[in-house]
Amino acid sequence: MNYISTRGGAFKPDGPAKFCDILLEGLALDGGLAMPEIYPRVMPHELEAWRFLSYPELANEVMRKFIDDISAIELRGLLMRTYTPKIFGSQEITPLKTLEPGLHLLGLSNGPTLAFKDVAMQFLGNVFEYVLAKEGRELNILGATSGDTGSAAEYAMRGKRGIRVFMLSPHKKMSPFQTAQMFSLQDPNIFNIAVEGVFDDAQDIVKAVSNDTVFKARHRIGTVNSINWARVLAQVVYYFKGYFAATTSNEQTVSFAVPSGNFGNICAGHIARMMGLPIHKLVCATNENDVLDEFFRTGVYRVRKSAETQQTSSPSMDISKASNFERFVFDLFDRDPARVRALWQQVDREGGFDLSGTPQFEAISKRFGFVSGRSTHFDRIQTIRHTDEEYDLVIDTHTADGLKVARQHLEPGVPMVVLETAQPAKFSETIVEALGREPLRPAHFANIEALPQRFEVMSPNADQIKNFIARHTGL
Ligand SMILES: *Cc1c(COP(=O)(O)O)cnc(C)c1O
Repeated sequence: MNYISTRGGAFKPDGPAKFCDILLEGLALDGGLAMPEIYPRVMPHELEAWRFLSYPELANEVMRKFIDDISAIELRGLLMRTYTPKIFGSQEITPLKTLEPGLHLLGLSNGPTLAFKDVAMQFLGNVFEYVLAKEGRELNILGATSGDTGSAAEYAMRGKRGIRVFMLSPHKKMSPFQTAQMFSLQDPNIFNIAVEGVFDDAQDIVKAVSNDTVFKARHRIGTVNSINWARVLAQVVYYFKGYFAATTSNEQTVSFAVPSGNFGNICAGHIARMMGLPIHKLVCATNENDVLDEFFRTGVYRVRKSAETQQTSSPSMDISKASNFERFVFDLFDRDPARVRALWQQVDREGGFDLSGTPQFEAISKRFGFVSGRSTHFDRIQTIRHTDEEYDLVIDTHTADGLKVARQHLEPGVPMVVLETAQPAKFSETIVEALGREPLRPAHFANIEALPQRFEVMSPNADQIKNFIARHTGL
């Protein structure tokens, strides 16, 4: 499998890019995102056989269609080590819970940090370590986080050979639970840097360091952000798993509802559908930050300014633009990179584009199955209450957004699978508001706030942080 850029350019000066070429580098030289040259089709006899596979075996079947530069034995080994009951809490890895006939939750948040990002990030940790060792290289991951991504990255990379993580977070702005989750890690290759400022200050420092190409090359700086192709690919697997769990025959179709932010998770659903998985509708659920819902309803994609981006009780969906959205638009325009380039030039110039009245806008739902909806704080509270009363189940705020919007798109005879993206324990404040009691915590997190914490407080100064990195990379 070769990889191409959504904007038509190359990933490297010589020859086509393979999976390992695009693994560590997020963007193509032209600023586009990596996409497989074609979508491998899943044949009916394969779908038949896959129904009965364990999670890691299924992952192996799906992913080897996209990866031909890691040997079959190595890839299978990596997946067997990644998707274990020890790490994900059960043999199923992503177990299906039925709320009522035809309405299910797919549990994606049973990994080490209690959010769905673990499913992809745990694979990334293992595949990074393998590729770096093979090439005799080191990698220093630099990132900024307001919560979920940073902790998922740290738990995936802790103790990995050849990898260090420098994770910037806004000092005293994360919840005590999230802070404890990250700062209690004592692994010598994990560096928590609490920046005196807000999330945007931390993000600006990451950009400033990445723009210093000399420093970046010398210190082998890389990222693990949501546009990373391997993360999207690892997420394709659980759409297959969820489909099999919600059906008894491959004649049936299933709809998926996805709490969305950067469009990575639902983009994986789109890819599964393009491969031939019988998905009826892909329901894109947003919170008050409704960039995506607005697009799917009206055809207008309008990037928000930071000041317009609201802080909500489903914070991992608080985005101003959806970084993986370009991948879908590439397919929407029949993979014409000139059109994608022109549209993103328009985004840079005018802050968005308008597809209303075009054949592409028609195709979004007719050909690609996308529909959408929006959920607010009030809806979350109602949905959390109702789910507790009706099914005796406490769900988190992001999952509540997904479930709320899913109900607007139920169709007779088509099972709806809502992706459960986090555990309620991570967002206890809102759970208390909804239910008047604390959510239960998995036992191994019982006293996490009391553990010793390891972090550095630093001012939002890129040079000071570069010095810190340089001291610890020894390069
Ligand atoms: C990251 C995240 C999302 C949004 O996922 P995207 O892939 O960015 O669309 C939703 N819910 C939770 C809990 C998350 O951590």
